[in-house]
Amino acid sequence: MSVLDRADFEALDAKDPLAFARERFHLPDGVIYLDGNSLGALPKATAGKIDTVIREQWGQDLITGWNKHGWVDLPRRLGAKIAALIGAQADEVVVCDSTSLNVFKLLSAALALRPDRKVILSDNGNFPTDLYMAQGLAQLLGRDHRLELVAPDKIIDRIDTDVAVVMLTEVDYRTGRRHDMAAVNARAKAVGAHTLWDLAHSAGAFPVDLNGTGADFAIGCGYKYLNGGPGAPAFLFVARRWQDATQQPLFGWFGHAAPFAFETAYQPKTGIDRFLVGTPPVLSMAALACGLDTFEGVDLSLVRQKSLTLGDLMIQLVAQECAGFGLTLASPTEGVRRGSQVSYAHIGGYAVMQALIARGVIGDFRAPDLMRFGFTPLYVRYQDIWDAVATLKTVLTTAEWRLPAFNQRAAVT
Ligand SMILES: *Cc1c(COP(=O)(O)O)cnc(C)c1O
Repeated sequence: MSVLDRADFEALDAKDPLAFARERFHLPDGVIYLDGNSLGALPKATAGKIDTVIREQWGQDLITGWNKHGWVDLPRRLGAKIAALIGAQADEVVVCDSTSLNVFKLLSAALALRPDRKVILSDNGNFPTDLYMAQGLAQLLGRDHRLELVAPDKIIDRIDTDVAVVMLTEVDYRTGRRHDMAAVNARAKAVGAHTLWDLAHSAGAFPVDLNGTGADFAIGCGYKYLNGGPGAPAFLFVARRWQDATQQPLFGWFGHAAPFAFETAYQPKTGIDRFLVGTPPVLSMAALACGLDTFEGVDLSLVRQKSLTLGDLMIQLVAQECAGFGLTLASPTEGVRRGSQVSYAHIGGYAVMQALIARGVIGDFRAPDLMRFGFTPLYVRYQDIWDAVATLKTVLTTAEWRLPAFNQRAAVT
């Protein structure tokens, strides 16, 4: 492969069809942000929008805002916007609660479809909160459900007639390895199992096709690629065919058939609304709406293309510039098997990342030794990859990562 230099990256930026989207974000000067997979950047519209909702809507209209400003419809309205990003119908997605809670709700709904089966199947690289939620639910149900974990590449073969639910995160948060959603859904369907997908690292990162691949249930995160802000509300998807056939166990009044009838007995609404629990967090939803608006007019297939090129270039450039410094690529080299991030193992991974952050290149670290670099094609430029790798090279050649200051662990890594 030919040697890359900065001009190659600038040339790609000059003809990038997504370059316009970067203007939609507030990005601090001197920072290269490669952590949108953990917390999306701030859209320029967010602060003004929140200010309006606070001062004009809440401040002036008080409780009448629920009807007047449609606050009460926010879970559905934002759900419809997310549906367009993940291959779902508008009435199959709602925004509500946190990712963790939605795992609990939908896993419970999915398990009830196969009361005869006891296995919840997942992979051993899945995000811990998903696994914890499954363990807690199994304990609460007290019906001998068993969470079984196998290596990611063993999932398909393990899906058999004893499996009730296959619960997977499509893209591994550490390595970026991507499951074959269509193949998993097909195999599950063939043996009468159901699928629950976590799209935390998929929604907004590339086109997802839940209905086209036959997914049953899905959940996802509002604060990563959807740019909803720290702790933004999450979303859930229930395929239409299961909406009235299943229930979630948290009987809250927003899932009731007639919340304002104030009846004493629970009666679930029909459709996706029964998966709601309580009052929507309007201010947080307003911020998430701005995050979703950054996708206005954006072709997700271009997002995918750019994300893969950014990743391929990073891999090529690290090999060119940083060989011999103990970095081991932990992500698939093949784009089709990768999400929107590239990870490297390094013995001093935590400290190297701290040194990078001190120099304005923000990625993050996941134990035991992985440095993650996430690509959000809406605001990451090609030249940022060049500059990030140049900084990485400096940090490694000077060995400044060995300084004690970079080796003290903070609470959030
Ligand atoms: C980020 C993430 C979560 C986060 O769950 P919260 O309830 O928002 O804390 C869950 N699952 C996966 C796979 C994630 O990447």
